[in-house]
Amino acid sequence: MNFTEARETLERGRNPERRKIYNNTTLERLEDSDGNFYLGLRLHDTVIIKYYPERMILDSGGWRTVTTKARFSAYAPNVGVSARQGEWFINGELFYDGIELDYDGNFLSDTISESDIKTKAKEVRRVKRVIKKYAKAFVVEWQKDDFPLSSNADCWYCLWKKSDDTALGDHWNDTVHLLSHIEESYFVPSLLMNALIEQGYNDPALIYQLKYLDDNVYRALYRYLVKRLIPDIQV
Ligand SMILES: [Zn+2]
Repeated sequence: MNFTEARETLERGRNPERRKIYNNTTLERLEDSDGNFYLGLRLHDTVIIKYYPERMILDSGGWRTVTTKARFSAYAPNVGVSARQGEWFINGELFYDGIELDYDGNFLSDTISESDIKTKAKEVRRVKRVIKKYAKAFVVEWQKDDFPLSSNADCWYCLWKKSDDTALGDHWNDTVHLLSHIEESYFVPSLLMNALIEQGYNDPALIYQLKYLDDNVYRALYRYLVKRLIPDIQV
């Protein structure tokens, strides 16, 4: 169904504003926030397809259900929906709410292809492996008797805190220092302190001294680094 067909369907009904066309599914005359008139296919409470004269917008409203998928396939012309590994794809591209197409099924809004996602997933796995290796080596160093306490000799981005207690690196959104620590196998005492604080320990300085807590220290370091280094490369 395109805009013209949707309008004709609505005009043939008794009520020109609203017409039931299937179970829990109505076609309605609506207006967007810019005051533009459009026709909406509503499934339960969500307008899942917005028909404009030259384009349509698809929106699951967060309900990625079999029914939503079926309505897209039936009422959005030239749109094929498939589900793989928990994601939806339309016409081979990743689906997201608000995606816009013309009535020939060409994309008018940005697309993210499946191969982009695969490349990024691969990169996420690689970075996680690197972080794991670094965190393990860090724990080994930390367990040695001569591992230092945090001091002015540390990386400043890890050491210095703003008045609200955020580390300078976080304040400036800088992750380059973290990557260089990993690359240089530089095990920064302040980085470990920051990780323990972030992990929620009430007395991180004490944890720092308890060398049998290797699992806890590993987890804190791993999470601290994943949180900072992974978001950059996710879709
Ligand atoms: Zn640092």
